[in-house]
Amino acid sequence: MARVYNFSAGPAALPEEVLEQAQAEMLDWQGSGMSVMEMSHRGKEFMSIAAQAEADLRELMAIPENYKVLFLQGGASSQFAAIPMNLIGRTGKADYFRTGSWSKKAIAEAKRFGDVTVSVDAEQDGKFTSVPAADGFSVSAEAAYVHYTPNETIEGVEFPYIPATGDVPLVADMSSTILSRPLDVPRYGLIYAGAQKNIGPAGLTIVIVRDDLIGKPLDRTPAMFNYLTHADAGSMYNTPPTYGWYLAGLVFKWLKAKGGLAGMAEINQRKAAKLYDAIDASAFYANPVDTACRSWMNVPFTLADSSLDAEFLKQAGEADLKTLKGHRSVGGMRASIYNAMPESGVDALVEFMAEFERTNG
Ligand code: PMP
Repeated sequence: MARVYNFSAGPAALPEEVLEQAQAEMLDWQGSGMSVMEMSHRGKEFMSIAAQAEADLRELMAIPENYKVLFLQGGASSQFAAIPMNLIGRTGKADYFRTGSWSKKAIAEAKRFGDVTVSVDAEQDGKFTSVPAADGFSVSAEAAYVHYTPNETIEGVEFPYIPATGDVPLVADMSSTILSRPLDVPRYGLIYAGAQKNIGPAGLTIVIVRDDLIGKPLDRTPAMFNYLTHADAGSMYNTPPTYGWYLAGLVFKWLKAKGGLAGMAEINQRKAAKLYDAIDASAFYANPVDTACRSWMNVPFTLADSSLDAEFLKQAGEADLKTLKGHRSVGGMRASIYNAMPESGVDALVEFMAEFERTNG
């Protein structure tokens, strides 16, 4: 069996041990004689899988009792709409930080539902390469919440701090950074993430939301977009993404065995440092992001001569280093190094980059 190092931004690599366990349990989950895919979501087997996954996530992230954890469908993109539908009603106004491609999309969607103030706009010369200082923004008097994207997956820009928003609930799109390190959940009103990077397969979306923010949706909010619907039904109002939920549970167990989020943080920081050090030490490679807000998870880089991009990707592919092409809006390369990317994958990439520079630089 040939497994490659897959640097995809999402759907992304999953831990091999998790895939092996899923394979071993594929036809017969723990003596049930059924695949998890074939189980009723209301049967006792799946209910136990679901409850265990939630308990493990709560433990990993130290999620307080007064937060609900919802296991939903629709991707983070559906949350771009669900968040204003559920939260903006209090004042009709919300603040958004504009720090890259994904926050731009969140802003565009929120504007359908209320009055959006872009309280941070980090775009400079058409590019997003930094975030403001921790005291470099203010919160509008009437904002029902403040929304930001802690890690911009495409640009590789990450907040090195949690924005202080006083009593105004902070909402975070953590799609590409959740579970990469310990998190102070009580600082947030709502955290959401598509699963397909650091949690499990595409098709599952996790929302962690403080109780008091649930139950005041805008009029005409569809049932499926109303957090109360899902909170009241334990995420089983309709058929949840059962197999994704199960696989996420396996990933949570894997994370616990790895030393939890503190253990992951140490590995992730080391992986990212190795890659940025290699880029910075060379005149052949460059990363445009301010050093203070470089992403631990998504590392974009360019070659000094972009006419070599295709050759770089071809040779990397031949060395089993896959999916390194940067997002079309940014160009160059992007190495996504989520939890499931082993340190040996980063070492192999760094080694390949040095060799490519030696032969082409
Ligand atoms: N937000 C961020 C930060 C993302 O990286 C992505 C996906 N790449 C999305 C939102 C959109 O997620 P989905 O495809 O699950 O709707």
